[in-house]
Amino acid sequence: SARSPVTSSMIGQRAPVSAPPKPNAGWRPCSRAKNGRRHAVSERQLPDFVERDVDLTTRTTLALPGRAALYAEIRDARQLAMLAGDNARRRFVLGAGSNLVLTGDFDGLLLRMAIRGRELVGDDENAWYVRAGAGENWHQLVLWTLAQGCPGLENLALIPGTVGAAPIQNIGAYGLEVAERFQSLEAVDLATGQTLRLDHAACRFAYRDSVFKQEGWHLNGQRVITRVTFRLPKAWQPLTGYGELAAEADRQQIRQPHPQAVPNAHFRPNLRSNPGPTPRQVADAVIAVRRRKLPDPAALPNAGSFFHNPQVSAALAERLASAHPGLPRYPQADGRVKLAAGWLVEHSGWKGRDLGRVGMYEKQALVLVNRGGASGAEVGALARAVQTDVRERFGVELTPEPVFL
Ligand code: NAP
Repeated sequence: SARSPVTSSMIGQRAPVSAPPKPNAGWRPCSRAKNGRRHAVSERQLPDFVERDVDLTTRTTLALPGRAALYAEIRDARQLAMLAGDNARRRFVLGAGSNLVLTGDFDGLLLRMAIRGRELVGDDENAWYVRAGAGENWHQLVLWTLAQGCPGLENLALIPGTVGAAPIQNIGAYGLEVAERFQSLEAVDLATGQTLRLDHAACRFAYRDSVFKQEGWHLNGQRVITRVTFRLPKAWQPLTGYGELAAEADRQQIRQPHPQAVPNAHFRPNLRSNPGPTPRQVADAVIAVRRRKLPDPAALPNAGSFFHNPQVSAALAERLASAHPGLPRYPQADGRVKLAAGWLVEHSGWKGRDLGRVGMYEKQALVLVNRGGASGAEVGALARAVQTDVRERFGVELTPEPVFL
């Protein structure tokens, strides 16, 4: 694979940590910066919205145990400016906690993004522009844009997480990536307190990747996304050609036939009168597919897909396909071939199999589930066991998608 291999020892690796706060350290509200200058925040000057020793178990969808030494609910970007400059302290930015493995207590400052707000900020001849706060729930934003009559995000319905997290890993599903609907974002640089605007090019989007991951800001919380603006083209086309979504659309009889697939379609009134699916129907089909396969974290804690879909060289994909007939292969523009991580996990014998109190889900082998009371260490052990078996059977390295904290 052209991808750098991830060894089992990298899982659960922890960044260097700063000293935990002293139990009786004095706390008082930070005075607001005057004349636009920011004060460095010291231990004694943390703003009064910062809480201490907060339980995180219910704040991540895998429901693993862990506490944050310092915790702040961020409802307004100005709170971030008040925290800027404190560069010695370890930081981490949390959204909905749906892509996170807690490996224990976190001794730094955890910032939970709760900035709200959704608005249609304008339109032009070609597109509508919608802006949303980083703490908005992603799926609710998708439904809201549809209700506003601004389609374009429907293939991304029911992806767990927040609006602010969406550009970080360039979320995507069923043939659409958020990068294709992205206009710009606002972020605060916590090293300097500056507000930044990043346009499409500055975000350096790639498959499940962006500048936030490339620069490590998703791990060190240096740049915190506060608002995202989406560009939703007015020339809307349903995207229902993708694998299971196509099958679901056929089942619901909402898929528009491709004109070339239907000879003399213009002579067939039943096909001519088929207007194709509405955006809401596409969203409902996506929701139906996802509900069938993916466990609800409220009922069975999980962090969605646990491994990235690997991209390997064409030569390796060819060799694997001759040894393993049925291996799904998706050639990429750069000549590499994308493999389905879920298929590799399933065909390594892990679908529906447990290790301790965690397991790989019976309806979708790519989803690691907490059967109840599991620890981060158990998650790491299962992830390593699956990686080892996939490596031994297929010679392919799987990389975990969630962040280990
Ligand atoms: P799936 O539909 O079973 O697909 C598995 C793999 O096959 C993925 O790599 C997918 O590519 C690829 N694939 C399927 N049909 C394809 C086609 N017609 N052309 C090219 N590639 C095709 O995947 P799943 O695990 O059940 O997840 C459903 C969808 O949600 C997928 O699109 C998946 O990528 C997405 N998802 C995204 C995230 C995220 O954004 N973090 C997390 C979980 C799942 P793609 O990866 O390019 O779709």
